[in-house]
Amino acid sequence: MVYLDYSATTPVLPEILDSYIKVTNEYFGNPNSLHSLGTKSQELLKEATKQICDILNIKENETIITSGATESNNLALIGTAMAYGEKGSRIIVSKLEHDSIYGICKYLESNGFIIDYVNNDKEGVIDFEDLKNLIKPETILVSINAVNSELGIRQPIKTIKQIINKENSKTIFHSDMTQAMGKVPVNLSDVDLASMSSHKIYGPKGIGLLYKKEGINIKPLFYGSGEDFRPGTPPLPLIVTFSKALRLASLDLNKKADKIKKINDKICEHLKKYPNILINQTKYSIPNILNISLMDIKSETFIHALEKYEIFVGSNTACSGGKISAAVLNLYQDKKRALTTIRISISYLTKYEEINVFLDNFDLIYNRLKELSN
Ligand code: PMP
Repeated sequence: MVYLDYSATTPVLPEILDSYIKVTNEYFGNPNSLHSLGTKSQELLKEATKQICDILNIKENETIITSGATESNNLALIGTAMAYGEKGSRIIVSKLEHDSIYGICKYLESNGFIIDYVNNDKEGVIDFEDLKNLIKPETILVSINAVNSELGIRQPIKTIKQIINKENSKTIFHSDMTQAMGKVPVNLSDVDLASMSSHKIYGPKGIGLLYKKEGINIKPLFYGSGEDFRPGTPPLPLIVTFSKALRLASLDLNKKADKIKKINDKICEHLKKYPNILINQTKYSIPNILNISLMDIKSETFIHALEKYEIFVGSNTACSGGKISAAVLNLYQDKKRALTTIRISISYLTKYEEINVFLDNFDLIYNRLKELSN
């Protein structure tokens, strides 16, 4: 099998799976129970939470465990809207967000909030002037992802925060950092709220985190006993293994990035011989995500043809279910280009031999389908 859809999800690392099984078996006591089994679990929960905080350089009261980035995004946007709605009703988002953000915006719009969409330049970077003009006294929140999931475009988060602070120091800044974690260095002190997800960094599915800077008051989405944002029994095996995934993801970032860049370059070089294949990459795209447009062939047809050889690549994003690529349309204003994209996402685990297999089969399938389309 050749797996090249790491931006949709990653396999769980064997050592992480081992920890999951160990914690499930040996720490099954409810961390909230008073007896010794509960205490044992509570201690491990504290240890794992401390590790998460140490890695991310944040405080314990700044972490909210969620089920993943979609829930973190919901809590960030709806939680802020509910807490600060009386102070203002405007929210700014970029045009290169994950679909989950737009779904939440739709809901907020139906509840009276006004969503302003900030422009980006031809390289995909936020248009600073447009952002400045859009920030009004009644803008309560700006949400801009750190790395876009379709084209891998990385935003200058620190500069964006400075602009927001200058225009309206009360405006809260949220960043969906799901595609940035483990790929590029992130600095949570540059934002007020940040979403992340474990299954994008070789951890288990079903857990993520919302970073909430101390002093930012958002309303919870769930209610139960206590004051927690997510009441209920803490999912200890998920939390422990998420902390392990975060630790492993933070190691050797440069070394991993160098290898991924080499693989990205190799694929681009190989595809140069096809004049009709367009590479959707700007100078701000991180090499983990390589988005191309096949132009003459539908993405779906190509993805299924590759799958017959046990090669797995993505369409635009897994969550949009292979619809037109909004990001490619935004950048290149070309419908055909946006309808024929495939997303090849590369990991530090990707082997050069796998790329050779991928490229051999790519040639075979591309030439065959191109002939058919003629
Ligand atoms: N945001 C971004 C940028 C993503 O790439 C994804 C996953 N495709 C999500 C949010 C949703 O993450 P989750 O599956 O953890 O809900």
